[in-house]
Amino acid sequence: MISNADLRARRDAAVARGVSNPTGIYAAKAENAFVWDVEGKRYIDFAGGIGVQNVGHRHPKVIEAVRRQLDGFVHTAFQVLPYELYVELAEKLNALAPGDFPKKTALFTTGAEANEHAIKIARFATGRPGVIAFSGAFHGRTLLTLALTGKVAPYKTGFGPLPGEVYHAPFPSAFHGVSERQSLDAIEALFAHDIGPERVSAIIIEPVQGEGGFRVAPFGFLHELRALCDRHGILLISDEVQAGMGRTGRYFSIEHSGVVPDLVVASKSLAAGFPLSAVIGRAELMDGPGQGGLGGTFSGNPVACAAALAVLEVLEEQDLLRRGLALGELVTGRLQAMARRNDLTSIGEIRGLGAMIAVELVADRETRTPAPELARSVTALARRDGLIVLTAGHAGNVLRVLVPLTAPDEVVEDGLAILERALVEAEAGQPGS
Ligand code: PMP
Repeated sequence: MISNADLRARRDAAVARGVSNPTGIYAAKAENAFVWDVEGKRYIDFAGGIGVQNVGHRHPKVIEAVRRQLDGFVHTAFQVLPYELYVELAEKLNALAPGDFPKKTALFTTGAEANEHAIKIARFATGRPGVIAFSGAFHGRTLLTLALTGKVAPYKTGFGPLPGEVYHAPFPSAFHGVSERQSLDAIEALFAHDIGPERVSAIIIEPVQGEGGFRVAPFGFLHELRALCDRHGILLISDEVQAGMGRTGRYFSIEHSGVVPDLVVASKSLAAGFPLSAVIGRAELMDGPGQGGLGGTFSGNPVACAAALAVLEVLEEQDLLRRGLALGELVTGRLQAMARRNDLTSIGEIRGLGAMIAVELVADRETRTPAPELARSVTALARRDGLIVLTAGHAGNVLRVLVPLTAPDEVVEDGLAILERALVEAEAGQPGS
């Protein structure tokens, strides 16, 4: 039997170092909320391939739809020989995305690619170059989206110069000492010092930051942003790559606030593991760029479209939006109980929306000093005991739960029990404890 260690050695010799593999676990198979490694060990999966498995690994409906499509055709390029699946998916996404106005969709392959296109569409529509994003944001690793991403190490280090006319405002986060007012004032300061609002095409925001540590933009703040955009003719883009497709109990996380963005970007759980992304937006904006201005060879691949249509059916048939809300309550409740334990002192904040829940670990609850080492040892101990859980956050001190919405309560409970034991053990092993 091949071991994780063997594969690790081969990986180190053959694969670029910059592609990180913090778990060192090599996958052999996966089913709903479980993954098995090449050594036959089973794990509960709280990562879901970084938020991709809202309907669980290998949902039978998704696999069946993919099999059917494999028997038809795998790729023709939508630009060369279009197919109904793409059109049908666009129709469905147009109907699901917020906004009571005509919408159109363009499909792509990755989250970064869709974000890049959203900015292209916004620039084309407004004729303006500037874009405002937020601190702690993650919008991708391609050069433009890297410029939008609001975290230097490890993403931007050594890759400059990055495209210009991208500006950052602090993301409002009470726990991190940034009020809504401060964030809005910072945008006004950008307008005063760096770029006039008449030169800004778009503001892009994750209504719930993913890599940034599941920080939820206050709904009032999103309304203020909408008003500010309307005042200045700026487009509002909601990056729902991680928070979308049912994760927060709505198709798109911004729906919780009632704010309607001009463009919505979706990917990750959209096609349950098949590479697919979408920009959905106001028809007149989407129709701006001329023929050939949008797209790509693999954009809207038919197998991925078949998977996505099955995902949408599963979300509805299994009532997974409601399930997302219930799951969020279950996870939050258990984490709150952990935070009340006298022997656990590192839980600084539990936050999130729907089933997108995270816990920020701190060295000191008063000063809120981040505890990234502790977070790392919790994830390592959890792996030892059969749970895959990811970190996030500016300092890497946030544990995030992205368990499939289809996971039974017992499995989620078992995963949380492993997490709790890992926290206790990791805290006890801290220097000075
Ligand atoms: N936006 C958000 C909110 C994300 O979480 C990610 C990926 N973590 C991306 C964009 C980039 O997606 P991809 O890795 O598919 O390019």
